[in-house]
Amino acid sequence: MYPVTLNVTGRRCLVVGGGWVALRKVEGLIAEGAQVTVVTPEAVEPLATLQKDQAIALEKRAYQSGEAAAFSLVFAATDDREVNRRVSEDAASAGVWVNVADDPALCTFHLPARVRRGSLQLSIASGGESPFVVRRLRAFLERRFGPEWTAWIEAAGRFRGAVRALGLPRDEMERRYDLFFDSTVDTRQIRARVPAAEELAGWLSPDTEKPGSGRAENGKGSQAGVASLDRATGRAGLVSLVGGGPGDAGLLTLRGRQRLMSAEAVVYDRLAATALPCDLPANVGLHCVGKEAGHHPVPQEEINALLVRLAREGKRVVRLKGGDPYVFGRGGEEAEALAAAGVLFEVVPGVTSGIAVPAYAGVPPTHRQEAVRVTLLTAHESKKEEGPQVRWDLLAADPHATLVGYMGVTSLPHVVERLIAGGMNRLTPAAVVERGTTSAQRVIRSTLAELPAAVERARIEPPALFIIGTVVRHADTMDWFGKRPLSGERLVIASPGGDLGTELDMCGAEVVELPLPVTPAARVVLGALPLTGCVLRSPAEVDALDEERDGPGWDASKVVAWCLRPAAAERARLLGWRNVVHLPDEKPGAVIRAMVRG
Ligand code: SAH
Repeated sequence: MYPVTLNVTGRRCLVVGGGWVALRKVEGLIAEGAQVTVVTPEAVEPLATLQKDQAIALEKRAYQSGEAAAFSLVFAATDDREVNRRVSEDAASAGVWVNVADDPALCTFHLPARVRRGSLQLSIASGGESPFVVRRLRAFLERRFGPEWTAWIEAAGRFRGAVRALGLPRDEMERRYDLFFDSTVDTRQIRARVPAAEELAGWLSPDTEKPGSGRAENGKGSQAGVASLDRATGRAGLVSLVGGGPGDAGLLTLRGRQRLMSAEAVVYDRLAATALPCDLPANVGLHCVGKEAGHHPVPQEEINALLVRLAREGKRVVRLKGGDPYVFGRGGEEAEALAAAGVLFEVVPGVTSGIAVPAYAGVPPTHRQEAVRVTLLTAHESKKEEGPQVRWDLLAADPHATLVGYMGVTSLPHVVERLIAGGMNRLTPAAVVERGTTSAQRVIRSTLAELPAAVERARIEPPALFIIGTVVRHADTMDWFGKRPLSGERLVIASPGGDLGTELDMCGAEVVELPLPVTPAARVVLGALPLTGCVLRSPAEVDALDEERDGPGWDASKVVAWCLRPAAAERARLLGWRNVVHLPDEKPGAVIRAMVRG
């Protein structure tokens, strides 16, 4: 297979077939400016609309032998293999390139899957051999290449024009391209940034230093200690340390959402992924620093440096952290680094998991005459050799206190041992909550002494909190979260989800309202936890979600396609979705009843 990209602008292209697969080819061709003729006895509705808008010529009739010869490019996408074969043979004998959907033997060319960022296109192909691999790689690259690559490739094109205008010798040109590429692309993280005007001017100027001379380093150093002003807007960079809450997206504060929606860059921890607004504009730079409880893949110093760099570019940056930024979130260290670099910052507190997660597990952390003190502690230190930082002996001696422990899954046995050694009653009620406030919440309750074994049996994994104190007993009567009819469901609905979205949420489902086209932020949210279902209203929604089916969080054998209209159900079945349910009544009450029955 020999890869090429075709300029089809103004070219006559033929699509034989009028179903959804044909529609996709047609849309792709129109987007590139091709002159498209569709021949088909029957056409799906959007094709008729395209004809009405004069975007295509739709000829409602059977394909006639030989007619493929009059076109530059031919596609056959009918469900009749005989027709497809005739189209393929006609085209091939006339020397016209032909593609037959799902039939590699009849194709003289294949369409690569692609990831597009402006004029930058990454194509993935397997010569028709392994489409499943291609789809997964495409989904992977789609996630890895952020939206910032669009602006970057435009800047690269302009830079090339400016370099060529200088009329330099080849090696001088290449050196400038190197400067552009090396300074704007982080190849390890697969990230790109658009350089500022003065940087570009520096790379273009005749006395740009040769690499290794040290001048470039000095240039960077001269910015140290100043909050930069973006020359164009006169605006200083600002970093907002925002608490994203414990997992339930509804627990993000109003100001947190406001700062996110006006950010130019968002640096988020994996623990905070569900707090990203799905409608975050697609051009906001998203940086995942992958921090999870217990291990920190991006070292803290690098996170600090990234925040400082983004702010110095004059950006509005949100540092989004799980829970509250200053409660066991290393927000303090980040604020110190920002202050030391002279970068403006602010703190937007969040709902800490230590308070919200007990509430969702039916436990009030304080209760009149019963618990008059709450201790939020990190259990991490208990393994340290140098001796405990937490005064377990003091905590053990106070029966009117509630202990809430963060990061405690692995150290729980040590914690329990120390508390019992300090005199705490072995029968004190205790609980561990995994992924609290989300559709994946699990609660394990037992006595203090038995908690470690119970947690191990249930294979609890981080993020999880432990709660120790008499208040845990109230979960017997006060559990509300798990009692709602749709609790445990994580449903995607195309936004605006309207009444149905709200009703599903009130019945206890975690609802992800997905903007179409799907934004990069929504893609992160989708993949953050396993999905249980999609609510689908139209074939176009099915198509859009079909593109996401290879992403994390999506287990095709478990996700139910709840289709509100027959056309959506038909489309989902055609695309090979497994659990397709057509709901005859679209009213929220009826939909919810059907879901509860399963
Ligand atoms: N700043 C965060 C805590 C970060 S430390 C906050 O204020 O909540 C990470 C720890 O928080 C995890 O190990 C876990 O103990 C706890 N945690 C965070 N989210 C949680 C959740 N949804 N369910 C249970 N524990 C959670």
